[in-house]
Amino acid sequence: MAEMREARHGWHKQDLQVVLVPTMGALHDGHLSLFSQARNYGDIVLATIFVNPKQFGPGEDFAKYPRMIQQDIEKLTMARVDAAFLPNAADMYPQGFQTCVSNKLMSKSLCGASRPGHFDGVLTVVMKLFNIAQPHVALFGKKDYQQWRIISQMVEDLNMPVRVIGCETIRDQDGLAKSSRNAYLQPDDRQQALALSQGLKKVNELFVTGERRPEALIEQFNKIIRDYPHIDLDYFSIRSQDNLAEFSNLVDSPAVALVAAHVGKTRLIDNIELNHE
Ligand code: AMP
Repeated sequence: MAEMREARHGWHKQDLQVVLVPTMGALHDGHLSLFSQARNYGDIVLATIFVNPKQFGPGEDFAKYPRMIQQDIEKLTMARVDAAFLPNAADMYPQGFQTCVSNKLMSKSLCGASRPGHFDGVLTVVMKLFNIAQPHVALFGKKDYQQWRIISQMVEDLNMPVRVIGCETIRDQDGLAKSSRNAYLQPDDRQQALALSQGLKKVNELFVTGERRPEALIEQFNKIIRDYPHIDLDYFSIRSQDNLAEFSNLVDSPAVALVAAHVGKTRLIDNIELNHE
């Protein structure tokens, strides 16, 4: 922590722009793409790795979340990030810790409905990382679309001097969105999981042909998923890109189709932006 503060002090004194990329490690191409895009936004690319206990609920996968620090450090070196901050939980949440950043609206639906408290945990750790590193810019993946929108809202609501950038989702060749949790998937489940990205793609194709009725787009997705018995759908929803509100009638502004599902024992999320031409 002290070293991090010292480094940050030095960067600011030299007037260097700091770009932060927070992660939970088990780094994959999605993370690497953020590191490489970070270069475009400033002078110092700072990666953080911290598996944040506060964003995992009881019974979730905190204990078994993949931790592979040695490989991660090699990847950070290969990616030529300038600095890495790997705090431990005792430093981040010392005895007596009692404050939390909470979102009151956008965090209540979608993933927030099945993971109560999750986004408060995310916002609290992101706020702490912002305060510790004082970055000028921070990059987040659109893979975690709701997370990106809620963090952007926090920065706006609390007048935080950080520019938040959302970066495109990186996928395997077959379309599966890269995720540290993909490591949990059994081969059979992985095959079934592809239906999620395929379903999203089909919804977008229908949207591009001019379909604007949410119920028709939802039916298109459900029709595809029905044939996959290992997929236990948590939600599929069409929301406004900006504030994740539902469409009461037609999809008449920039939208995003979002899905979460359990495939075998693994909870996966994915989404696709439905852009009007
Ligand atoms: P995580 O380590 O899963 O907390 O992710 C750290 C950051 O990487 C978050 O901003 C994620 O949204 C982003 N990220 C994770 N997977 C991907 C992906 N497949 N493509 C782009 N960004 C991603």
